[in-house]
Amino acid sequence: MSKSVYKVVLLPGDGIGPEVTDAAVAVLNAATEAHGIALDYKTYEAGAELYRKTGISMADADMEALPQADAILLGAMGLPSVRKPDGTEIAPQIDIRERFGLFASLRPCKLFPGVPSRVKAEKIDMLVIREITEGLFAGRHDHLEPSDEAVGDRLVITRATSEKLFKVAFEQARARRKTHGTPGHVTLLDKSNVLRSNAFMRKIFDEVAAKYPDVGSDRLYIDAGSMMFVTHPERYDVVVTENVFGDITSEIAAGIVGGLGVAPSGDISETMGVFQPSHGTAPDLAGKGVANPVATILSAAMLLDWLAERNEDDRCVKAAAAVREATAKVLASGPRTADLGGNAGTSAVTSAIIAALPATI
Ligand code: ATP
Repeated sequence: MSKSVYKVVLLPGDGIGPEVTDAAVAVLNAATEAHGIALDYKTYEAGAELYRKTGISMADADMEALPQADAILLGAMGLPSVRKPDGTEIAPQIDIRERFGLFASLRPCKLFPGVPSRVKAEKIDMLVIREITEGLFAGRHDHLEPSDEAVGDRLVITRATSEKLFKVAFEQARARRKTHGTPGHVTLLDKSNVLRSNAFMRKIFDEVAAKYPDVGSDRLYIDAGSMMFVTHPERYDVVVTENVFGDITSEIAAGIVGGLGVAPSGDISETMGVFQPSHGTAPDLAGKGVANPVATILSAAMLLDWLAERNEDDRCVKAAAAVREATAKVLASGPRTADLGGNAGTSAVTSAIIAALPATI
């Protein structure tokens, strides 16, 4: 059931985070107003700057209030100059991930006309889905005594998470067939010829695939599959893989479609979606008004997809499509920021995308 008002929490964060969040909100407002969708924003301060000022990275009360939101839009968090006493980075986004059990990171990588790519391909339009709660990063909470002779990390794959992950992958393939005109195909990347955990994951993948006879599927070893990103990227529609393999392959995929400035992402669970650009806080660009807002604007379109799907709200489907079409138009004809070979600033690109919206509605 569509709602009269959707609650959206904004976490602008650090570095270029506030600039790109402002840009995305301006586009969101224009697109949603045109479709009669009301968004009610709440902005919370969180991240390295807050930690520098107060010694905490996010207020408990703000963290407790997050479940009231329909979705969260996050800029970027963490600064190399601000660390905890143990030397680790300030990353409340990891606490949010754990708080909501966000297990799947969706990273669409589409090559838009006009954006230069280093690979030769007719068309690149894929969604990389990275599992983000287990895999080779699951052992980070193990407090093993390291020795000077050997140190190990644990690779954990569970049935429960894999089933949920693959269900998301097949559902996304079905949804993209409608919204992106993609073929409806899921590729699993693993190392099941060497790792028992990955053979287990492949078995579960096959079980879930059998429940989606209308969606094609295949399985590749991660080494061969990585090469395909560069040699035959057009073969991919939805790609699904474990945590570390997904960490690496999603950056390769972003690299072949124009880099971090155009790569959006969304981390989801059954109950919450956190949408954010794939890039970090880029302190070298902060405050200069030159950051590319496209990754965050496309993340805002994913947020609308999420609202559409969970609330069966067709208005959000249309608003998301409008944002993507307007962004594609501006990427094709300019203005562009420096990372894409142009010389425009954040606000010029944002205004151009807003100006391109009415023609698409
Ligand atoms: P993190 O570890 O937080 O993911 P990172 O070290 O990978 O961050 P980023 O902050 O993502 O680094 O940025 C790396 C570089 O890419 C930046 O220094 C900047 O030059 C470029 N970059 C990142 N985001 C953008 C953007 N939105 N627009 C233009 N350039 C960007």
